[in-house]
Amino acid sequence: MSLFNAYMSLSGAGDADVLRDEKLSRRTSYRIGGPASLLILVHSYAVLGKVVDVLASENVEWVILGKGSNILAADTGFEGAVIILDDEFARVSIDVEEGIICAGAGALLSRVVSDAAKAELSGLEFCVGIPGTVGGAVSMDAGTRREWIGQRVRDLVVYRPGEGLHRYEAQEIDWGYRCTSIPTSEIILEATLKLEHGEKAAISAHMEERLARRRCTQPMGKPTCGSVFRNPPDGSAGSLIEAAGCKGLSSGRAQVSLDHANFIVNNGGASASDVISLIHLIHDSVLANHGVDLKCEVKLLGFGD
Ligand SMILES: Cc1cc2nc3c(=O)[nH]c(=O)nc-3n(C[C@H](O)[C@H](O)[C@H](O)COP(=O)(O)OP(=O)(O)OC[C@H]3O[C@@H](n4cnc5c(N)ncnc54)[C@H](O)[C@@H]3O)c2cc1C
Repeated sequence: MSLFNAYMSLSGAGDADVLRDEKLSRRTSYRIGGPASLLILVHSYAVLGKVVDVLASENVEWVILGKGSNILAADTGFEGAVIILDDEFARVSIDVEEGIICAGAGALLSRVVSDAAKAELSGLEFCVGIPGTVGGAVSMDAGTRREWIGQRVRDLVVYRPGEGLHRYEAQEIDWGYRCTSIPTSEIILEATLKLEHGEKAAISAHMEERLARRRCTQPMGKPTCGSVFRNPPDGSAGSLIEAAGCKGLSSGRAQVSLDHANFIVNNGGASASDVISLIHLIHDSVLANHGVDLKCEVKLLGFGD
């Protein structure tokens, strides 16, 4: 692989900015992570194909990053290219009469939620307080126990490397618990969401109630990645972790949150290895105490296979 050749080919490409050795701690909500060999901000649809083709021809591994709010990046960083969809990918348009929002993958989910509320369109209130982009939310099928974004998707446009654009109808996709059947080789470009007409006051009240619940139950103001583990079927990872006596445990500058045991907070200067040590400790304690094999919800970047 030649990262250097890829850098040379792409740094002249219009509509993309290529950064070398950009620290992932600047790009993840955990504020943790060493450098990505290349970080490519792609500003337009036209240039995305070229970026992916060059990386493929130079055998450079790549990943798509949204806002990094569900990512733990290794202290040693990522030897490859991190692609971020910017500008043209952040467009949002609304057809109020039809109850349709078309959002680019790079748009902030919070913006889409607030645009929907302003347009008196209901159905995305459960997303309030979920950080990240529309692309990240679709890829993770983000949501709550009862509601998830896949329920609101009408169709999606993705980029298939080597092929081009492809449209999925929502029913062609398996929407799972924090996962979908969309192959990881495909890049989500745009989602069309179908909402219902509602009343502004009711929508705002519903959102405020959700936010208040988050403020009471989640650590506020500290870097986290949200829930570290997936809830087991019919159970709560947080309750199991708390019952296993892990709440408040620390490793270096990382700590199991005192507000919510399924969150690990960065108390300032935590390393990825601090977080990984806690993940192992929690996993093994819950397995020993409850016989439950918790699975990670957070995505690891740069740790190898
Ligand atoms: C405080 C806090 C609270 C949270 N609460 C919730 C919650 O209530 N519910 C919930 O579901 N999640 C929650 N999360 C987790 C996180 O916000 C979601 O998973 C979010 O949808 C991730 O979006 P992102 O843009 O940050 O994606 P990233 O974290 O950057 O990426 C996540 C995954 O999506 C992939 N991806 C991103 N964009 C694309 C794209 N365009 N095409 C293909 N793949 C893509 C990435 O490769 C990666 O695998 C929370 C996180 C925090 C920090």
